[in-house]
Amino acid sequence: MIVFKKAADIGQFLDQAGKKYSRTGFVPTMGALHQGHISLIEMAKNSGELVICSIFVNPTQFNDAKDFQNYPSTIEKDIDQLEKAGCDVLFLPTVKEIYPDGLINYDPYKLGYLETVLEGKYRPGHFQGVCQVVHRLMTIIPANHLYLGQKDFQQCMVIKKMTELKGLSTKIIICPTLREADGLAMSSRNMRLNEESRAKAVEIFKTLSHIKAVIKPGDLVALKKDAVKKLNDAGFRTDYVEIADAGTLELKDNWNGKDKLVALCAAFLGEVRLIDNMLL
Ligand code: AMP
Repeated sequence: MIVFKKAADIGQFLDQAGKKYSRTGFVPTMGALHQGHISLIEMAKNSGELVICSIFVNPTQFNDAKDFQNYPSTIEKDIDQLEKAGCDVLFLPTVKEIYPDGLINYDPYKLGYLETVLEGKYRPGHFQGVCQVVHRLMTIIPANHLYLGQKDFQQCMVIKKMTELKGLSTKIIICPTLREADGLAMSSRNMRLNEESRAKAVEIFKTLSHIKAVIKPGDLVALKKDAVKKLNDAGFRTDYVEIADAGTLELKDNWNGKDKLVALCAAFLGEVRLIDNMLL
């Protein structure tokens, strides 16, 4: 695996590589890699592409300074895992390399409704930061395919919208959520859970699974309220348990029995905020 730290260097390399590889796949990450990230690398690898991964903890997408400071970093282990997975290129830039003109010098993305709900509502500015960094990374690494995890369901929709707004031709491939044996969605933030919290964390998966098992056409308000109460009783501080249209993310209080839905949840255990979702 070749490691680049400078945008100009990886740009030059990709120009040359273009003559050898007909297709490239890009997997942007914030590091502290787990098997979920590696499954994205493997997906790209299996389709015979030149696989590029980036590790960059993007300061502009953290609405909570403490969350940014505490974001786990395991760079040597990450490099080892990427090499074992057959990743071809790693981009490991500094903040200055990504934002040579400073952090706030950009045109806001017109994300509309998508950034007013769920993560957008509870983490103001988060999706602007996500678009800012992914747009910049996609300019440096103009791959054929961009691999994203369904674990960040709303983020996938936001990035798709950003690529449409900016007329980028990269195709977005959404990969399934990898889970621990008990069902907890793999996440870099899980590393910050103590033993007791780790045991509790699976309640999010159980809550989403319960919604999937019992949902019926008609009123959904009681089902959502009950889910929030159960999580809070178990020791979470729940931001939301919501049910939304899987295509538009329109929040639903009622279901006609036909529309494709997704249940989404965000909840704190102590200082650690966990998110998950499940197609219903
Ligand atoms: P992150 O490093 O958390 O920004 O994640 C980088 C990419 O990995 C994003 O596209 C995530 O959606 C994806 N990802 C994170 N966790 C998982 C998981 N458990 N399974 C599959 N993909 C994931």
